[in-house]
Amino acid sequence: ESLMKAVKDYIRTIPDFPHEGIMFRDVTTLFGDPRGLRLAVDQMLHPYAGRRIDKVVGLEARGFILGGAIAHQLGLGFVPVRKKGKLPAATIGERYTLEYGEAEVEIHDDAIQPGESVLLVDDLLATGGTAEAGIKLIERLGGQIASCAFLVDLPELGGRKKLEGMGMEVFTLCEFE
Ligand code: 5GP
Repeated sequence: ESLMKAVKDYIRTIPDFPHEGIMFRDVTTLFGDPRGLRLAVDQMLHPYAGRRIDKVVGLEARGFILGGAIAHQLGLGFVPVRKKGKLPAATIGERYTLEYGEAEVEIHDDAIQPGESVLLVDDLLATGGTAEAGIKLIERLGGQIASCAFLVDLPELGGRKKLEGMGMEVFTLCEFE
């Protein structure tokens, strides 16, 4: 409880970004603080000590910061899931729906080997659409999702329920209403 409060204390809220009525949870203030970043990374990787995980996959862009630090600390490699058109080698893609319109994310088609156990990382879980697209990419390459880790959960938007309904294990460090 007090650790959750400590993590939340480093996160800044920006009203009406990117649209009116949205309370944007700005994690750059946590990333920019040496205690905040260490607290978040240490707590996010804590559940995975001693578990068999082969790779960390991070979702663009804030999932790269947390996922890179977690991969380093667990002694694992890191694989990026990027927005369409950014990865240089052969890719597979997944489209998903956003509040307005569609987006597509990609992964290198040789980044995960069949049977590898993968930890999926992003900064924030809202509707779960972004994470679901990442999960589908990993599964299409034959990877198995060991767990999904997020710094922030917005439970009212239903992402945790969606991912748990897909059979995923979900760890989050703190929640905002
Ligand atoms: P979802 O696909 O779960 O609806 O949205 C989650 C994705 O949108 C994540 O990649 C996350 O980085 C981004 N996102 C949505 N809302 C916020 C927010 O309030 N703060 C931050 N930091 N990211 C957000």
